[in-house]
Amino acid sequence: MTTIFHKIIQREIPADIVFEDEHVIAFRDIAPQAPVHVLFVPKQDFATLNDVPVDAPEIIGRLAVAAAHYAKAQGFAEDGYRIVMNCNAHGGQTVFQIHLHLLAGAPLGRFGT
Ligand code: 5GP
Repeated sequence: MTTIFHKIIQREIPADIVFEDEHVIAFRDIAPQAPVHVLFVPKQDFATLNDVPVDAPEIIGRLAVAAAHYAKAQGFAEDGYRIVMNCNAHGGQTVFQIHLHLLAGAPLGRFGT
């Protein structure tokens, strides 16, 4: 499936890209929910977390580690941040290429409150 994120990976539409390597691309969310809101997206094609093979946890691990490295490089890792991955309708997923949200830059409150 081609999503808006595939088009960003292919440079068919613009995005504010903050990190990229062989496996992962990260860019600022177009509608930020916190002062820092960056999306970490694998370059492999998986619609949802459910589609990641059980023997390929590195696909998710790379996203989380890239987010943590970005937080450290930007100097807010010690203050803290939140990472979130939404899955399907009840999780609120709207773009069906898996992605990790990194939210930071202010106290975010306890999750769910
Ligand atoms: P989801 O709801 O699927 O977990 O998150 C999708 C995210 O993608 C949303 O936070 C939304 O604001 C963001 N988004 C949707 N379209 C675009 C776009 O064209 N560019 C960027 N940078 N972010 C987008």
